[in-house]
Amino acid sequence: MQYHNNTTHHVSAVKGACPHDCPDTCALITTVIDGVATKVSGNADHLFTGGVLCAKVSKYTERTYHAERVLKPLKRVGPKGGGQFVEVTWDEALTDIATRLHRIATHAPEAVLPYSYAGTMGMVQGESMDRRFFHQLGASLLDRTICSSAGGEALLHTYGGKLGMRVEFFAESRLILIWGSNSIGSNLHFWRFAQEAKRNGARLVCIDPRKSETADKCHEHLHLLPGTDAALALALMHELITNDWLDHDYIARHTLGWEELKERALQWPPERAAEVCGLPVEQIRQLARDYGTTPQAAIRVNYGVQRARGGGNAIRAIACLPALVGAWRHRAGGLLLSSSGIYPFRRADLQRPDLLGKRRPRTINMSTIGDALLHPGAADFGPRVEAIVVYNSNPVAVAPESHKVAKGFARDDLFTVVLEHFMTDTADLADYVLPATTQLEHWDIHGSYGHSDVLLNRPAIAPEGEARSNARIFRDLAKRMAVLDPAFAAPHFQDDDEALCRAAVAGTNVDFDQLLVHGFASLAVPEAPFADGGFQTPSGKCEFTSASLAALGVNPLPDHIPNYELPNADARYPLAMISPPARNFLNSTFVNVKSLRNSEGRPLLEMHPDDAASRAIADGDLLRVHNARGEHVCHASINGRARKGVVVGLGIWWRKNGENGTNVNELTHQQLTDIGRGPCFYDCAVEVEKMA
Ligand code: SF4
Repeated sequence: MQYHNNTTHHVSAVKGACPHDCPDTCALITTVIDGVATKVSGNADHLFTGGVLCAKVSKYTERTYHAERVLKPLKRVGPKGGGQFVEVTWDEALTDIATRLHRIATHAPEAVLPYSYAGTMGMVQGESMDRRFFHQLGASLLDRTICSSAGGEALLHTYGGKLGMRVEFFAESRLILIWGSNSIGSNLHFWRFAQEAKRNGARLVCIDPRKSETADKCHEHLHLLPGTDAALALALMHELITNDWLDHDYIARHTLGWEELKERALQWPPERAAEVCGLPVEQIRQLARDYGTTPQAAIRVNYGVQRARGGGNAIRAIACLPALVGAWRHRAGGLLLSSSGIYPFRRADLQRPDLLGKRRPRTINMSTIGDALLHPGAADFGPRVEAIVVYNSNPVAVAPESHKVAKGFARDDLFTVVLEHFMTDTADLADYVLPATTQLEHWDIHGSYGHSDVLLNRPAIAPEGEARSNARIFRDLAKRMAVLDPAFAAPHFQDDDEALCRAAVAGTNVDFDQLLVHGFASLAVPEAPFADGGFQTPSGKCEFTSASLAALGVNPLPDHIPNYELPNADARYPLAMISPPARNFLNSTFVNVKSLRNSEGRPLLEMHPDDAASRAIADGDLLRVHNARGEHVCHASINGRARKGVVVGLGIWWRKNGENGTNVNELTHQQLTDIGRGPCFYDCAVEVEKMA
């Protein structure tokens, strides 16, 4: 929409989509006056956004026009990490980068590694021209596991994909279990539907090792120990079975492995789970009673549950519950972890894996990037990583065991290119930093993992400075590579960003013209996806036992798998630490937006008053949090949110903002989850002491 106001300024309202790693994928309206974005607000016409944005993205203009934005290509001139960069032309940067990548690829293409995640979740700026470029090069593949792979693969082996309830129908639920999610901070638009249900008489139960802002607003909070969710789910099953709160018909017709699951669950009386979870036994019994006797019972489980050794099994155990009570029969019953499996995007057309030809490059797990960068190369690993190209991610801050990650990125013989908006911890260690556009400056197209709409993001303003979109940067890089390797001159390296948006939905039932007009389009998805079974597993049933997991050498039946690092298993480290996001940050994004950082104050560790008192720690004291991997310095917050024996390091601050140049990931480890090869951020034992 465009118009001239009565002082002849040119005013427009441009429709877009929030690109951040959040299930809500809001529809944005950017107000632009004379080419300057003055306000970013929520699109009131979009059901799931409802005209409301979170505090983070409401400040998007502050981020876009930030004085510290990188607006020209930068080349390192001093020692690595020394902070000495000079501005260079795009031509110089791209020609040098192409030459160096080509030189490495000539002898060992797998020595080049792309590294990206969900800094933007768009199909075009996140997974299109970049993949074409690296596939043509024959670079190593990246196993993108850092957030959701344990839970995602657990759903795959249980339901057949990332599928679940439609979020709007939580408003009609009578009981909602909010499991492993601080919805108010990280799933705000689901919370609106939960609030509506609450107003209509629904009971809200929060299950979380932290007494979060969401727990404050629920009727009940189960303050369990980290990594014990599967034990709780199995005890709930035990009670459903022994009290016969079961839907026998649904179980018989739509599930696989009932007898085996029953046998397993009967090994988990509430008394056993109470001990493992650190919960009162009656609280478990009451929850089972409520869940087994309330029609329209719904579970909103989130990815917090799966950030521990047994995270995949935990999601599988929880995901079995709705089938036991037949909750799927009603549109307001069932479970939602992720809805991303419903989207028909043409990923292969965007990413062109066929460009690999007969080559089968190795795959490197992004969650163990510290070890990968420090690996000297071996027959069973492949060549040493010689070049890494980072975009949509800040691994030095967000990947586990971060002192190893930082040490890897600091290697003098590693050629590092970072596409960024700001000088993050990762950009500080780059050879080249290339200025990338923000969401207000480029085209993109988005699905969601929390609702069922497709959204189009139009550029609202011209790129600031010399910033270019990710897709354009890889397009321009391909043009330079074509001088050295004619394969990069192929037409698919010339598709522009709008054409890539169109290609994402070409031939599907998504109408691109509708996206151009309205900014979003709803997919036709069933109201109650598994009311009559229809799971997308090989058996077509909800798979309590999974042959596909057995084939991977994983226990086919859900079980409780204790954490790698149980508190007190090593007497030196008696406290369990979890590190959920601070409310005003989204992973490591927004840490440098002053108004949001001011709201968070400084890096904090939440502690229970008893744990603090036994260490003579008072609120606000400077702390040394440590384990065998390292130490992190921050301040104590004794605010009633941590349970006894558990500390909470709110993340994810940039390392350089930390008191000793670290963040919580200095303490986390690189061991992986049972399913999905994901990181175990919330499976970490530490000790805490007051600093002088
Ligand atoms: S971060 Fe989430 S809640 Fe905030 S605007 Fe983006 S999608 Fe909406």
